[in-house]
Amino acid sequence: MSVGPDIARIGVRRWPVAVLAAAMAVACGAPPSAPIQVQLPPQPNVIVFLVDTLRADAVGFGGYDRETSPRLDRWAERGVVFDQATTPAGWTKPAVMSLFTGLYAGTHGAEDKEHVAAGELVTLAEVFGAAGYETAAFITNFAVSEKFGCVQGFERYRWFDKKVDASPDASKMLNYVQIRDIDDEVRAYLEEPRERPIFAYIHTTDPHIPYLPPLDFLVFGTEARDRYDAEVLMTDTFLGGWFDLLEEAGLLESSIVVLTADHGEEFYEHGRNGHGVTIFQEIARIPLVVWAPGLTPGRRDEQVSLTDLAPTLVEAAQVAAPPGFASQGRSFWEVITGASRGADWSWSYLDLVFRTKAIAFAYREGSEKILHIDGDVDGRRDFTALYDVAADPFEQVNLAKKRPDRAKLLSEKMMELRQMHRAASVSPIDEPLTGEALDQMRSLGYVD
Ligand SMILES: [Zn+2]
Repeated sequence: MSVGPDIARIGVRRWPVAVLAAAMAVACGAPPSAPIQVQLPPQPNVIVFLVDTLRADAVGFGGYDRETSPRLDRWAERGVVFDQATTPAGWTKPAVMSLFTGLYAGTHGAEDKEHVAAGELVTLAEVFGAAGYETAAFITNFAVSEKFGCVQGFERYRWFDKKVDASPDASKMLNYVQIRDIDDEVRAYLEEPRERPIFAYIHTTDPHIPYLPPLDFLVFGTEARDRYDAEVLMTDTFLGGWFDLLEEAGLLESSIVVLTADHGEEFYEHGRNGHGVTIFQEIARIPLVVWAPGLTPGRRDEQVSLTDLAPTLVEAAQVAAPPGFASQGRSFWEVITGASRGADWSWSYLDLVFRTKAIAFAYREGSEKILHIDGDVDGRRDFTALYDVAADPFEQVNLAKKRPDRAKLLSEKMMELRQMHRAASVSPIDEPLTGEALDQMRSLGYVD
């Protein structure tokens, strides 16, 4: 396999044979209780598309009434759509590291803006690499670039660099490479002849701020939400094209394909625009669709998390992983195959460290969600609220005083989870942001 001059090679970890054998027993787990409908070959390709900042309800298959996603809507009809999927963290870096490790942010430790992921973490790329896969990442968001240790284990890593202007107006200029500008390279990659199966992670950053879509996609209006939606439409056009290409190339018959996002985006539901500050539902809910040959398309309302994706993919592909890998995630392959092992899918957890000044936690059980802010965020100091997200999806009515017993119980469960995550924590490298890295993170709205 030839590797382009701008693609870095990163070391792939190998485990001793005995460790792999023990891990295979763990990865295979208990036998399913019903026949598996999915017809995957040995060593299927695994392809994950992540659209940064894509709200679950900003696409047609998520219920949006604007036609932002005609191509992906058609594809979603052929996959399993999770309507209550949740991010484990309110911004890019911790959410993506949870996807890669199957650990919550309190454990993998890459929580705050300066944090660099610890090398001792075991990532999906390392697991698939050790199983003989060709691993490749295409990244357009600086927050998950090599700078922060987020691409550990990828054999091929393509970072699409967009230099930012350090002037005070930097936030007004486009600070990432748009999906249309990586289209040729991604298509060429997907069409490459290859002898090994692939684990591919393709992270596009539209519709992140600033919302500056090309004029030909500016069809909904010119307000912030209109321009955000235009970037979703642009994403749909190119990403939909990549799905078409997968089918034309015959890759769908041998692949597990995932479409998801790292978090949503706020449009003044709680007083601000953007993300990285709160963990209300407009941030918490993410789109998640899974395709595999032979699966039964449909919609599911299990509360699955990005943290659950790593053990799910390991189980689906039947690759060996070291014991303890992705230990905090729950494989939802059983939900896709209909072979339930009785896991509890009625709850989800997420948190957000806010510039070392505060931390927000949320725990949802059924439709009740407790949210607590320890510290001060936007004037919400040591704030606790209980919402019913089924009756009140935009969390406008705080029920904590009406349901004090539920607020107390859910709060205790939430804090227990956080303490459990911290007890297992892997310390990140805490490296102050300076120079160009600081400019990049500032331009993305992640630091003041
Ligand atoms: Zn993001």
